[in-house]
Amino acid sequence: MIGRKLPSTCEGPLDRLREGRAGGGIRQTYDIAIIGCGPAGLAAALLLYTEGHTVTLFERFDAPKPLGSGLMLQPSGMAVLHAMGLAHKTASRGARIDALFGKQEQSRTALDAPYAKLGRGEAFGIGIHRASLFGVLYEQVQAAGIAIRTGHEVRDTRPEGASRVLVFADGSQSDRFDLVVDASGWASRIEFGESHGLLPFGALWATIPVEPGDPHEKNLLEQRYRRASQMAGVLPIGSRGDGLPQEVAFFWSLRREDHARWYDTPIDRWKAQVLDLWPEIDFLLDRIASHDDLTFARYAHRSAHRPYRERLVRIGDAWHSASPQLGQGANMALLDAWGLAAGLREGRCLREGLRLSASWRRDHVDLYQAVTYAFTPLFQSDEALWPWLRDRIVAPLSRFGPVARLQAQLMSGLFGFPLPMLGLELPNYSAIAASMAARASSDDQS
Ligand SMILES: Cc1cc2nc3c(=O)[nH]c(=O)nc-3n(C[C@H](O)[C@H](O)[C@H](O)COP(=O)(O)OP(=O)(O)OC[C@H]3O[C@@H](n4cnc5c(N)ncnc54)[C@H](O)[C@@H]3O)c2cc1C
Repeated sequence: MIGRKLPSTCEGPLDRLREGRAGGGIRQTYDIAIIGCGPAGLAAALLLYTEGHTVTLFERFDAPKPLGSGLMLQPSGMAVLHAMGLAHKTASRGARIDALFGKQEQSRTALDAPYAKLGRGEAFGIGIHRASLFGVLYEQVQAAGIAIRTGHEVRDTRPEGASRVLVFADGSQSDRFDLVVDASGWASRIEFGESHGLLPFGALWATIPVEPGDPHEKNLLEQRYRRASQMAGVLPIGSRGDGLPQEVAFFWSLRREDHARWYDTPIDRWKAQVLDLWPEIDFLLDRIASHDDLTFARYAHRSAHRPYRERLVRIGDAWHSASPQLGQGANMALLDAWGLAAGLREGRCLREGLRLSASWRRDHVDLYQAVTYAFTPLFQSDEALWPWLRDRIVAPLSRFGPVARLQAQLMSGLFGFPLPMLGLELPNYSAIAASMAARASSDDQS
């Protein structure tokens, strides 16, 4: 038994028990539709399938694909991948990140957050290309033979008797399911309508190949700021496959309303602006040929207090999305997927399972939504006060032991103790470091 128990809610007419194939005994299993092949949807599909449920994934794209550049896998997300037996495979495609380090222009340290301050063995972050994380999960989904319906854009869902159906963009509708899992990301329109909670700042992102001799920090997520109105960052993200180069994700903060103007401005004028802030990354900018090498990512902040209703549950960004300042979204998505599968296992009926899974995740989600909301203006805003606070108060304070530890916990996704609640534990990071080093040396030799 994991987490805390709640009073039973299994007295309604829609609560039925069924014989499951997992474990052989009386166990409730369900026909489940999952909307979206992002980290939340793919992980949930694998975990629910393993529990004996019948799972069908629906994805709007004709071929499932990840959009965007790099992300950070935190110890919280790695705990889920570890429990799924995928931690080593995933880590081997990423890059070890020992700290986040940021400077206000060329001088003042504005952020120095080493994972070592966590005091949890050798835990570290992993920078990884989105496609690599997607690849690991998608290969498993395919190997398990889980049904994937591509080219199906879901517009809505509708209760139908003791089940729920999906309504597609062309007006057609699906078979009936016992449960629909909305894992369609921050732009989900299911139940939220059009309210996306878009933030004023987003960022331009590029994936850039690097060589061993390039003068960038190999184990740091490095950033440079001019107040909070300009921000550039470089995150090593490993290699997408054997024989492919090591890469970094480069990002540049940009107001949403300035994106069109940026696109119409000569690329060299923008590069000069970046170099003025961070001259040492000229070698990376030389590898960007045109505006089309960069993708503009919009950020949204929104969440639903109650992520479930009759036979419908939201996980990942469809439940809660935030700016990626703390690098948590994909990790939260993995935790949600784990929580959902565990809740359905422990609940005596569907309703109780959904209630349990939400109760195990809600405090952690609310905490990170609040902290991310508070921290985002320190790095992305036009106000002078926030970066002043960042440089003169937050950064000096974070050098003190307990504050440094708190900062490391926040960054690792472990603030609020989400793992014990879900019966998860951290992987053995020494073993992960060894297998990452072994892969790096075999790449060097080949
Ligand atoms: C620039 C950027 C940097 C980030 N950096 C980090 C980081 O460092 N660390 C971190 O943990 N997180 C990071 N995040 C956040 C992270 O990417 C998200 O939190 C994570 O991808 C959420 O996963 P998800 O599966 O919930 O949604 P998504 O990854 O958005 O996946 C949703 C899926 O649903 C599909 N879909 C959408 N609508 C429909 C529909 N109507 N019908 C059918 N299918 C649909 C989409 O095609 C997609 O496949 C970053 C995000 C951005 C934009």
